[in-house]
Amino acid sequence: MTEVSISRLHFPVTTLGPGRRVGLWLQGCSIRCPGCISVDTWEPGIGTVPLAELLERLTVLADGADGLTVSGGEPFDQPEALAAALAHWRSVSGTPTLVFTGREHGDVAGWLSGNPGLVDALVTGPFRSELPQTLALRGSDNQLIHVLTPEGATVRSYDRPAVAADRRLDVAFDEHGHAWLAGIPARGEMARLRRALASAGHVSVTSDMVGAHP
Ligand code: SF4
Repeated sequence: MTEVSISRLHFPVTTLGPGRRVGLWLQGCSIRCPGCISVDTWEPGIGTVPLAELLERLTVLADGADGLTVSGGEPFDQPEALAAALAHWRSVSGTPTLVFTGREHGDVAGWLSGNPGLVDALVTGPFRSELPQTLALRGSDNQLIHVLTPEGATVRSYDRPAVAADRRLDVAFDEHGHAWLAGIPARGEMARLRRALASAGHVSVTSDMVGAHP
């Protein structure tokens, strides 16, 4: 495995876990939850780069980061690339890793046992638009936080009802000046934000990139 498909790699991300984190969104999602607002991350094989390039970029971004958050798309659709990225993070940073997946814990248990210690905290479960959204760090209330190592314990502080601050979004701009957003919005917020950004002149909000299987 020498290539990886990436939707986006960004620092800092402040809305997907504790502190100022590197955010890695892997491209491609086979789960395809109805109501997903990250449909631009569904198609596999887009944004494909040599794995070594991703690892080099992670090395550069690791300096000063409080952790690495991996989402998508569906990270476990590229299991070898996910393992390589997390193992590399371990080699360049002592900070914790947080992975969001649309799969249930049991679905990824084999990967976790085959790659011990690479994921410090995990958020599992598909987005289910028919369920309430009342919990921090989650887009629907079926999703679960799993703390897998002592280093992931800081994520346990999100295992509670959401408050207004939990619905903050990071706004970033790509090289074309197009706005994109990272975080877990409240239901209905994306449409309002798109309108606001468009009226500010950012007519092309390239991606919802909410990352957290909202
Ligand atoms: S919410 Fe997450 S798992 Fe579900 S379709 Fe969207 S990217 Fe895939």
